Amino acid sequence: RFEYAPAPESRAIADIKSSYGLFVNGAFVEATAGKSFKTVSPASEEVLAEVAEAGPADIDKAVRAARKAFDKVWGPMAGRDRAKYLFRIARLIQERSRELAVLESLDNGKPIRESRDVDLPLVAAHFFYYAGWADKLEYAGAGQNPRPIGVAGQVIPWNFPLLMLAWKIAPALAAGNTVVLKPAETTPLTALAFAEICQQADLPPGVVNIVTGAGRTGQALVEHEGVDKVAFTGSTAVGRAIAKSVAGTQKKVTLELGGKAANIVFEDAPIDQTVEGIVNGIFFNQGHVCCAGSRLLVQESVYDEVLARLKRRMGTLRVGDPLDKNTDVGAINSPQQLAKIRELSQVGEDEGAERWSPECELPQQGYWFPPTVFTGVSQAHRIAREEIFGPVLSVLTFRTPQEAVEKANNTPFGLSAGVWTDKGSRILWMANQLRAGVVWANTFNRFDPASPFGGYKESGYGREGGRHGLEAYLAQ
Ligand code: NAD
Repeated sequence: RFEYAPAPESRAIADIKSSYGLFVNGAFVEATAGKSFKTVSPASEEVLAEVAEAGPADIDKAVRAARKAFDKVWGPMAGRDRAKYLFRIARLIQERSRELAVLESLDNGKPIRESRDVDLPLVAAHFFYYAGWADKLEYAGAGQNPRPIGVAGQVIPWNFPLLMLAWKIAPALAAGNTVVLKPAETTPLTALAFAEICQQADLPPGVVNIVTGAGRTGQALVEHEGVDKVAFTGSTAVGRAIAKSVAGTQKKVTLELGGKAANIVFEDAPIDQTVEGIVNGIFFNQGHVCCAGSRLLVQESVYDEVLARLKRRMGTLRVGDPLDKNTDVGAINSPQQLAKIRELSQVGEDEGAERWSPECELPQQGYWFPPTVFTGVSQAHRIAREEIFGPVLSVLTFRTPQEAVEKANNTPFGLSAGVWTDKGSRILWMANQLRAGVVWANTFNRFDPASPFGGYKESGYGREGGRHGLEAYLAQ
């Protein structure tokens, strides 16, 4: 057990207001129907703020504002001028990154070390990257330039609130679209801080609109007839409902959905690096990661050694206050998510898998789940097939590379995979065999704005990031 002096990041620098309006046409406004909801810190259950809930009338206003801005200002604007705004936004994010990291950790529950060192640098990098594209689109000559689609309706989840916003808004604006974005109901605060940044950057009114609310607000947005492009990141169930609701309309759609990634360890893998990669793969962001390495496939010959080292390493993970710089695993984002993790873990036990967690004291207040590993898991077990979206790892074994491929691909998802081996030829062979949008080799959960990300099968369609991510916002 570790004794350490807590060094919490100051909550005060987040400067949270007691209530927030919707951000429509460049201004913060009340919801038409006067409804609101509370956003809560999952680590303390403290109410952080009261946030306006957008209804259909507010969605209509936001979509109209976005349409007007698209027709009159943003669509006709030269790419180099759009780039200036995006560079300005990127720099403002950097300037405010400490405050935004604290806000993200408070609202989401993730460790400050992750929001500070991973989320925020990637958020700024996305805006810098797509700012660089904005004036490179005008290469085809007058009348032949790639054209934006129009108004994008974007709906995002709670696991990387500001980063998912950046993945959605940066390419859309670079390509000349305007947006109406709905953040998740449990994590609206950084999107609202981003709205302030749009004001600070003097972004023309209506180019970015932020409408807060729950699923029905998202539904009203994606179903609004003024929306030309729907971009959704979230669960496969909601993604499927959205695909149905836009079928038969002219709307373009991209869906980034769930995953059940295999992290595959061969006997010649560099063991220390591999154990770090397994831990990062499943315990980073409490396992609230669509591409989390939630199925560990270990070659039988090294199973005992890998498991022993993994358990030892898990015993050193510090679970607790997200604002403490020593924390490795933060709070579970909501009571609903905690209930889902508990339920599936119980199913794992009931189906006969063996459950293990290091001894670890969880705080009394808030929503917590210890780092957990299940061994003796078979492919038929629900914990090997369903996305748990929490700090829970299911371990399976294999003998041959062919068997590893078969087990890895035996899932309805296909978002990501990891391969750990010393052999370059095996990495290339595996990368070609695995039905996954991203295959990491001797690393895991690495992201770069220049590299496309997206899934096969039930993990969705379309790609975000890189040139592909930009093309998803261009009329073909
Ligand atoms: P969710 O689908 O419940 O919610 C996602 C968003 O959709 C939220 O903003 C929610 O309010 C909204 N929503 C809910 N019902 C809606 C409806 N009928 N119409 C329109 N919008 C609606 O998912 P979640 O629990 O917030 O997020 C977790 C899921 O997201 C996981 O399955 C995870 O794998 C997935 N995810 C995928 C990626 C990716 O890039 N593929 C990234 C992050 C998360």
